[in-house]
Amino acid sequence: MAVILDGKKLRDKLLDELHLRTAKFDKKPKLVVILVGDNPASVIYVNNKRKFAEKAGIDSEIINYPSNVQEDELLNKIKELNEDNSVNGLLVQLPLPKHIDKSKVINTISPMKDVDCFTAMNCGKLFTGEKPYVFPCTPKGILLLLDEYNIDVEGKHVVIVGRSNIVGKPLSVMMLNRNATVTICHSKTENLSQITKTADILVSAVGKKIIEDSMMKVDGIMIDVGIFKDENGKTRGDADFEKVSITASYITPVPGGVGPMTIASLMINTVELFELQNKRSLGVQ
Ligand code: NAP
Repeated sequence: MAVILDGKKLRDKLLDELHLRTAKFDKKPKLVVILVGDNPASVIYVNNKRKFAEKAGIDSEIINYPSNVQEDELLNKIKELNEDNSVNGLLVQLPLPKHIDKSKVINTISPMKDVDCFTAMNCGKLFTGEKPYVFPCTPKGILLLLDEYNIDVEGKHVVIVGRSNIVGKPLSVMMLNRNATVTICHSKTENLSQITKTADILVSAVGKKIIEDSMMKVDGIMIDVGIFKDENGKTRGDADFEKVSITASYITPVPGGVGPMTIASLMINTVELFELQNKRSLGVQ
């Protein structure tokens, strides 16, 4: 039976540690989240960010625009926040309405406040081996969780299902940086199960019921990033948890695995940016 990789427990431990760290600062780090519209999932995510920021001793502000906001108004707000020294981390909750150019919005965020590591500048640094100001939250959270359970990825075959800019692609680079051998799969991959069966560590970031126990290597590690509601309205991940947890050696539950680690990473990133910006303003590199 697989060991559960408990993201919730580690999140709480990391937030407690952050709280001790921020308590020593002469002012609180600040995270600003811009939310456009009222997509129910986005509203839940944004409220969670506020809740866990508070637990970490971080000030947070949510700026909510109606879904018909003009792109220029959003860009001007981001530019204003870039210049505001009291703001350390800035993110725009995705998805954005269709009339707004997502890439333009993201790349208006100052790379030094880009707490999600979504800007082309920070992604470019990540992909060329230069250190971005902070690492992207979900991949960072996955690595923190593996570290907590002393799981070394060096030399291991890591198969990632899903090639998004926020999970699959950056995680592949971060795994490579740790000397894993990485394969990325997607909707056009042929013979998916033959590939997943060779994974020492299988990461699934799809958002549908896709990973069966027959697709797992015996004693492989299952990292389930996917999150969606099933036909009964129950929150679940990509993997058939009951069955896969018999075949796997370790598994992340959904909810309670990668999700909490993403939020913990966001808070760590905010504090890291705060420290970096304050060192810069003191002239320390
Ligand atoms: P995404 O943009 O939703 O894309 C899904 C990926 O899955 C695409 O690369 C797609 O391939 C691939 N895919 C779809 N059907 C497939 C199939 N039958 N076989 C193999 N691959 C398939 O990805 P995302 O934004 O990373 O989100 C993925 C899931 O993770 C969602 O459920 C999301 O809610 C969740 N998520 C969770 C967290 C967390 O903190 N827990 C964070 C981020 C995302 P193509 O590229 O070929 O279309």
